[in-house]
Amino acid sequence: MTEHTLFTRIIEGEIPCYKLYENEYVFAFLDINPLSKGHTLLVSKEPAPSIDHLSQDSAAAIGKALPILSRAIKEATGAIAYNIIQNNGREAGMTVPHVHFHIIPKYKESKHVFTWEPKALDATEGKSIADAIQLSLNE
Ligand code: 5GP
Repeated sequence: MTEHTLFTRIIEGEIPCYKLYENEYVFAFLDINPLSKGHTLLVSKEPAPSIDHLSQDSAAAIGKALPILSRAIKEATGAIAYNIIQNNGREAGMTVPHVHFHIIPKYKESKHVFTWEPKALDATEGKSIADAIQLSLNE
């Protein structure tokens, strides 16, 4: 039985949405609280709570759908640019624990920003974290 997240209920038509696209693995619709005109959510039908739990088939389908949707959104809205944002975990800003990507168009007049405060990578830390991640990848 499919786990009933909010997005599963939208996918199954229990909750109405402005649907844009659907195939065997993914479903796309307009965000109910858009940051800009055309703000879209691309959701995996598989109700994985974060991307590290997602199957390779669903991940591949999302990878294929993102450029298709992005092109259509750009063309239909006249956006000059767009951000693709994907949150995983409540602490990272995820409010619906079901894998989804935001496609957020940017217009000349857009004011929305994503806070980003980068610091230069420390060489010692860079080496140790790269080693640790490579080790996990090889497990
Ligand atoms: P998150 O914060 O988890 O990355 O994004 C969840 C998104 O889902 C939010 O941008 C929110 O506006 C959107 N959302 C929440 N509930 C609904 C709903 O019932 N319908 C639609 N279309 N979007 C929703």
